[in-house]
Amino acid sequence: MKREDIKPCIVCDKGVAHDNNLMFFKVKITRFVIDARAIQSQAGLETMLGSASLAQVMGPDEDLAIEVGEGDEALISMSCIGTRIDEIMGNVSDKEK
Ligand SMILES: [Zn+2]
Repeated sequence: MKREDIKPCIVCDKGVAHDNNLMFFKVKITRFVIDARAIQSQAGLETMLGSASLAQVMGPDEDLAIEVGEGDEALISMSCIGTRIDEIMGNVSDKEK
């Protein structure tokens, strides 16, 4: 990350290392809107087939939520991201396996 890419923490508006912690986070905020019609269609198929997993295989596998906009990236300092980040990152890496 180059100097020009390092912006203030989005939460506290201070430098990302203001707390003397050398680690900080870059997060991407992506907005989604639920597609109610696709969910109703999926739920109907699940009811008809009696199985969510069977409906997933047999159905059109539509997106149930639609991404809105391009999303925003922001930096967050270690002190602002809180004490649960190790737990959150552990959950993320567990689900990627
Ligand atoms: Zn901060």
